[in-house]
Amino acid sequence: MIKPAISFTTIMITCMSVSWSQMVPEPRATEVWGKEPLKITPSNNGGAPSDAIILDHASWESVNGGANKWTNDNGVMTVNPGTKDIRTKKSFGDVQLHVEWRIPILDAKFVDQDRGNSGVFLQQFYEVQVLDSYENKTYNNGQTGSLYKQHIPLVNATKPAMEWQSYDIIYTAPRFSKNGTVISQARMTVLHNGVLIQNNVSLTGPTVYIGAPSYEAHGNLPIYLQDHDHKVSYRNIWVREL
Ligand code: MG
Repeated sequence: MIKPAISFTTIMITCMSVSWSQMVPEPRATEVWGKEPLKITPSNNGGAPSDAIILDHASWESVNGGANKWTNDNGVMTVNPGTKDIRTKKSFGDVQLHVEWRIPILDAKFVDQDRGNSGVFLQQFYEVQVLDSYENKTYNNGQTGSLYKQHIPLVNATKPAMEWQSYDIIYTAPRFSKNGTVISQARMTVLHNGVLIQNNVSLTGPTVYIGAPSYEAHGNLPIYLQDHDHKVSYRNIWVREL
């Protein structure tokens, strides 16, 4: 009798192994290879990672268009009251922004919104409030870490005056259609002194003091820091474009 080249048993085992491998996929089937994420060098202690843009005193200008008139003392930039807000010379869209700030010692007569007020404005319009909220009552949606008059912070993680504090902000810019309608609202996540205080919340429009906000279409815009007449200081500001 002539023996077949492949036995019946071999065929059966092969069929069984194919169907078994189809039922239980290889781990490799869900692995993604190819273009790798950009390798960057992180920093210790809140310093800028290697792909960040450092926003030092020279990176800012007055909102009036002239030079930055805030004071600069060894990398510490302080509001020079009455000289108006400052804005980055460069415009930004989606970003990760790190800002360190410090409230000065103020007389007890300064209360409510008139106590260590400043602010970080993403794309010029959307404010993360800076205020002395350590022992200073104000409306909840205007305290430090609020997205002014839109979102109350989840907790009050404030340190006392003269201590350095930090914001780490993840900002997604609003998207607009060609005819100017809103496709998606601006969104923000904020950590205050390392604590989550705003969790990917949506903004209903630009920050406004009175009334309801409403969007107007815009592209990339500068980051602003607010002069609200108090000598709030800033240092170690860096931004990553997303
Ligand atoms: Mg403010």
